[in-house]
Amino acid sequence: MLSRSVPCLWITVCLRLCCFVDSGEAQNAKEVILLDSKAQQTELEWISYPPNGWEEISGLDENYTPIRTYQVCQVMEPNQNNWLRTNWIEKGDAQRIFVELKFTLRDCNSLPGVVGTCKETFNLYYQETDSEVGRSLRENQYVKIDTIAADESFTQGDLGERKMKLNTEVRIIGPLSRRGFYLAFQDVGACIALVSVKVYYKKCWSIIENLATFPDTVTGSEFSSLVEVEGVCVSDAEEEADNSPKMHCSAEGEWLVPIGKCICKAGFHQKGDACEPCGRGFYKSSSQDLQCSRCPAHSFNDREGSWRCDCEDGYYRALSDPPSVACTRPPSAPQNLVYNINQTTVSLEWNPPADTGGRNDVSYRVICRRCSWEPEECVPCGPNVGYSPAQSGLVDTYLTIMDLLAHANYTFEVEAVNGVSDLSRTQRLFAAVSIATGQAAPSQVSEVIKEKVQQRSIQLSWQEPQQPNGVITEYEIKYYEKDQKDRIYSTVRSKSTSATVNNLKPSTAYVFQIRAFTQAGYGTYSPRMEITTKEEATAAIVSSEQNPVIIIAVVAVAGTIILVFMVFGFIIGRRHCGYSKADQEGDEELYFQCTKTYIDPETYEDPNRAVHQFAKELDASCIKIERVIGAGEFGEVCSGRLKLPGKRDVSVAIKTLKVGYTEKQRRDFLCEASIMGQFDHPNVVHLEGVVTRGKPVMIVIEYMENGSLDAFLRKHDGQFTVIQLVGMLRGVAAGMRYLADMGYVHRDLAARNILVNSNLVCKVSDFGLSRVIDDDPEAVYTTTGGKIPVRWTAPEAIQYRKFTSASDVWSYGIVMWEVMSYGERPYWDMSNQDVIKAIEEGYRLPAPMDCPPGLHQLMLDCWQKDRAERPKFDQIVGILDKMIRNPNTLKTPVGTCTRPISPLLDQNTPDFTAFRSVGEWLEAIKMERYRDNFTAAGYTSLESVARMSIEDVMSLGITLVGHQKKIMSSIQTARAQMLHLHGTGVQV
Ligand code: AMP
Repeated sequence: MLSRSVPCLWITVCLRLCCFVDSGEAQNAKEVILLDSKAQQTELEWISYPPNGWEEISGLDENYTPIRTYQVCQVMEPNQNNWLRTNWIEKGDAQRIFVELKFTLRDCNSLPGVVGTCKETFNLYYQETDSEVGRSLRENQYVKIDTIAADESFTQGDLGERKMKLNTEVRIIGPLSRRGFYLAFQDVGACIALVSVKVYYKKCWSIIENLATFPDTVTGSEFSSLVEVEGVCVSDAEEEADNSPKMHCSAEGEWLVPIGKCICKAGFHQKGDACEPCGRGFYKSSSQDLQCSRCPAHSFNDREGSWRCDCEDGYYRALSDPPSVACTRPPSAPQNLVYNINQTTVSLEWNPPADTGGRNDVSYRVICRRCSWEPEECVPCGPNVGYSPAQSGLVDTYLTIMDLLAHANYTFEVEAVNGVSDLSRTQRLFAAVSIATGQAAPSQVSEVIKEKVQQRSIQLSWQEPQQPNGVITEYEIKYYEKDQKDRIYSTVRSKSTSATVNNLKPSTAYVFQIRAFTQAGYGTYSPRMEITTKEEATAAIVSSEQNPVIIIAVVAVAGTIILVFMVFGFIIGRRHCGYSKADQEGDEELYFQCTKTYIDPETYEDPNRAVHQFAKELDASCIKIERVIGAGEFGEVCSGRLKLPGKRDVSVAIKTLKVGYTEKQRRDFLCEASIMGQFDHPNVVHLEGVVTRGKPVMIVIEYMENGSLDAFLRKHDGQFTVIQLVGMLRGVAAGMRYLADMGYVHRDLAARNILVNSNLVCKVSDFGLSRVIDDDPEAVYTTTGGKIPVRWTAPEAIQYRKFTSASDVWSYGIVMWEVMSYGERPYWDMSNQDVIKAIEEGYRLPAPMDCPPGLHQLMLDCWQKDRAERPKFDQIVGILDKMIRNPNTLKTPVGTCTRPISPLLDQNTPDFTAFRSVGEWLEAIKMERYRDNFTAAGYTSLESVARMSIEDVMSLGITLVGHQKKIMSSIQTARAQMLHLHGTGVQV
């Protein structure tokens, strides 16, 4: 009965132990339990075979919870083979199954009389199946997992005191391939109590890591395998670019090695393991940003979870603006828009807008509209207008608009724009000017068609230039034999858009070019067109072109036309008619032209063309440079000789362009020749030609032996008669009359820019455009921009750059004063600012000493404030001619040409009373060389000097008239000052 009694002992012990085990175990969070015998309170009903083997025994643990155990203790009988099989266990997701057994096992030594039959181990098996297989048990279908032995067993001792220890063994099965399995326990004769059987597998439980959710994941089948798991971003989060979240589930059910992450989407920020929307008035533009930010200036939002803020009314965000920048608005209009017109070119300049709209990408665009003379009727200027540097996208605050139509009204709107201007629907803000253009040469003749080609004649027709810029009075057809070595041009003129060129050679290739002519000059030639005349007809046929009767008729008609043309031309404008040179590519031709107007070389696209239009190209070998006589802005000025073939050599001045010049310098340098070459007048310096095809580049001018007029007069102070001086002035006036008639405004008329030849003939010189002024040391910058020789310039030209022939007349008055005072500096050493102020207040230069009152009156007339009141050069020449014809009108007794005492004079004439000695006074008027003469004659005090007469001065041995005048002038001023200051006159 031992076999029965032993298990009874077990139960109590086992129950105690089971209570111990229960109270000590906690649920492992990583495990998924498939079977836990302890958790089942009803009978387990496992299969036990044979029936006297394993036995299910119920008991209570210390909490009175029933537990189920299986026991076997057939230790007395040999050859035991007792099987116990669990119910079917569905494996679920598991791949690797853990089997935990808790049991007690008695050691055989503690059982008397069991030697040979008692065992201390049992075997663990399993069988995989897809479903339950019934209650039969076939040993051979089981796979052995292990032989299980006790770690601890009953220890020896009194039976009552024997302590049982609970063994825990864990075995792992897998990988499993069927849906489920059975476990089986084989006892071969041991005394075992199977207290609990737990079957489980391990899982990594779902977690959120780096804003990604990782689902429950069953561990891998192998102990060493890691299961890679992709995370799923929590709501409102997204995977970081190229960094998707991953984790690894270890065999132990632990998450290992997190890689990558999720980040909160735009409009959301992270709070714990979730993404929360940005609050109102905040935004987060990108998932990359960590935090929500407050809306930038001039923007707002009134909803949560915004990735951007909306702009306030009137404010915008450019497409390229990031949401983090403030909203901005279009700039205000540019300020202080000013313009300058040069024929058909307009320059605009302005100041930046007062309000840039909060942006720093302000640029400018210009809208050009051509308007009819009726207001409000404007059309866009179209593609033919040129803008330099560009029409829009201007960074600088200036622009030049070219190729406008002549004599047309334009409106230019200058708009400041920034990155949000095109988004704004508010009204455009711009600065505008309305301008009327001047004259310009016509544009290029196009579409030349050969109408009829004969043996000796070619008939051509063409289209009027797209921009005639005026009334086309004629067309010039230039042609030459293509294969001719010397390329001699011939020209034919036509008043219509067709012409027949006669007297050509048969079977000969000719090259034709056509250009239009208006009052503003010649336009651009059409492209070269090559036409070959027909072959010669047989001798038997007399062509109409060779018919002498027709030739005579043609010559007669042509002669009549030319005669009528000349007579008509003579009647319509005396000075406007004459022969002129037209010159293209160095080849000169002579033609009759009835309107001669100055053409601004700047209207030529190619400045080289302008030079060759107006100046003759000289062969450098014809020029002999002899010596340097001066320095110009662009290089040395030399004297030398020019020997043209078949002509006698002449003295010339040669202006050279220094080496290393820029293209602009070359253009500016030759510009003077392009202007001078258009003039042909005895009182305008004559251009002999230019050398542009060799180096140095040269301008060859007639030689003016006495150099510039101011220096010449200073050198010959007081040495000329009034008639001689007036003769010089008459020359200058005649030259200026010619230039004014040509429509040329000099802008820098001054004695220094008049040259004098050996016959005292004065000629106007120093031509050019802006550079003339740049070149002039007298020119200073004024507030209106540009350099101006203030002392010589009319107030309207200083104030608003109104340069006209009337402003040249003002300058001419100053030249008169310079001449009559032998090169004295106008307004002496007053500052330019004081000069401008004095003129504005009505003061004018007084008459120089010995100046006939009529001449001073003429000066005063030239200095009328209202330019319309000033005399014209034509009138000036007339007045001077009259004076020369009646020399009596010029007689002024020495000393009678008194100067009015005016504040102007008070300020600028040395105060005689301020001198302490006669020596000091003489030094001040640069006459110290006569100090001894004064002392020797007893004039040792200033009082005695103040009483001197001209005879007294002459008696000192001062023979030079100029010096006599200078001394007398100072004495007279001193007397006037004394009278003015002290009210006491000095008797002469
Ligand atoms: P410009 O560059 O025209 O101012 O010339 C510089 C200097 O060269 C002048 O001040 C004159 O002294 C001298 N000069 C210029 N042209 C001539 C000329 N045609 N004949 C004599 N001297 C001249």
